[in-house]
Amino acid sequence: MRAAEISDQLTTVLVTEEQIHAKLDELAREVERDYAGKDLLLVGVLKGAVMVMADFARRLARDVTMDWMAVSSYGAGTKSSGVVQIRKDLDTDLTGRHVLIVEDIIDSGLTLSWLLENFAARGAASIEILALLRKPEAAKVEIDSRYVGFDIPTEFVVGYGLDYDERYRNLRDVAVLAPHVYA
Ligand code: IMP
Ligand code: MG
Repeated sequence: MRAAEISDQLTTVLVTEEQIHAKLDELAREVERDYAGKDLLLVGVLKGAVMVMADFARRLARDVTMDWMAVSSYGAGTKSSGVVQIRKDLDTDLTGRHVLIVEDIIDSGLTLSWLLENFAARGAASIEILALLRKPEAAKVEIDSRYVGFDIPTEFVVGYGLDYDERYRNLRDVAVLAPHVYA
């Protein structure tokens, strides 16, 4: 669905599907250049990164391997605490691998900072991050993300994989959820 079809549930459209696709084209060219001559393992973080992974990986004019990880961060309320639990681990041995983590959004940065340490401990040759969205003002830890699609304000957004209570992941655009939906 497009944002216009559920406009009563959204306030602002921050990034359209067309903008996302154009950005993923740019990022795919960068990644092709940066990893020329190297093998590349894409690791998607479930579930939010499913759309980014599907659209980004298919734009790469090269062979890659793909794996998935599911994590959950626990803490008070809905905020990420940095205490991360693995719900589904990788099937791939990271030893000596060039890993590109594919994420939907960097909010506090706590989940990714934990993942970076965890992957480094498994002996990866290199670890970089591709995140479609980033909320710079929400950062609790600085994450050095090599590929970032769009910086957005510190607001709760849905769409393109991002959910509110498992809804809106199938929205093609990224938009701010209207406050009345939370009630
Ligand atoms: P962090 O550890 O705070 O960076 O948490 C990142 C994770 O929280 C993302 O992978 C998303 O799953 C979720 N998240 C952060 N901000 C939003 C948002 O605005 N909408 C939906 N999910 C979000
Ligand atoms: Mg996520």
